[in-house]
Amino acid sequence: GIRLEDELIRIRQLLQAAEIEFRLEGSARLANTSLITENVLSMCLKEAVTNVVKHSGATLCQVLIEPSRTDLLIKVKDNGTGMEGINLYDKGHGLQGMRERLEFVNGSMEVLQDQGTMLIIKVPNVFK
Ligand code: ATP
Ligand code: MG
Repeated sequence: GIRLEDELIRIRQLLQAAEIEFRLEGSARLANTSLITENVLSMCLKEAVTNVVKHSGATLCQVLIEPSRTDLLIKVKDNGTGMEGINLYDKGHGLQGMRERLEFVNGSMEVLQDQGTMLIIKVPNVFK
């Protein structure tokens, strides 16, 4: 499996190669997340950033990692073209695959349009 910290190194390189500025907020050292959930999060992050590179035309990509008492949110925001009028699950398999894997760990995903695209990935915390 892949830890979130390792995936962040790779997406940093990917965005650098694409000449898209990268900003990270929050820590990738997750305290209340199972390993399987962290693996799913890493795969989602990779697909989300690959989509930013392939489709958005953005100059900036922000990743925000926001733990709360009950959940962990990961937001992937770009300042590109957005996906207005695009049927999300029509063209490719990336978003569909993300949704299915998130369901497997009781997570969910939301796509917002706000001067670009913001993908919000949510998974429940695990209490040990
Ligand atoms: P695959 O992921 O299977 O290689 P894909 O990337 O085209 O193919 P999805 O990841 O499911 O498929 O994305 C569906 C569509 O949503 C894309 O084809 C693209 O039109 C649009 N899209 C996705 N992410 C973004 C983004 N960040 N900005 C603009 N459009 C996007
Ligand atoms: Mg894709």
